[in-house]
Amino acid sequence: MRIPCPYCGERDAHEFVYRGDAAPQRPDGAEANEAAFADYVYPRANVAGAMHEHWYHAQGCRTWIVVERDTRSHAIAGATLAREAKR
Ligand SMILES: [Zn+2]
Repeated sequence: MRIPCPYCGERDAHEFVYRGDAAPQRPDGAEANEAAFADYVYPRANVAGAMHEHWYHAQGCRTWIVVERDTRSHAIAGATLAREAKR
């Protein structure tokens, strides 16, 4: 699988570390209680289709990116820097 890093261009997936689903939002402020963190950390959807995922380019620019990937075919629709990804 080839991943298009916004800085480095298209690179082999072995250069990256997979973190997982980019959809869950870390609770903060008044919402940051134990139950909210448990919901943030543990339950995950088993998506069959397009999803946004966090990947870290460990053997490249050392930047977190968000990759839109189809989990059935591994087809990648695009990637953006995680700090610029829409929430
Ligand atoms: Zn990179």
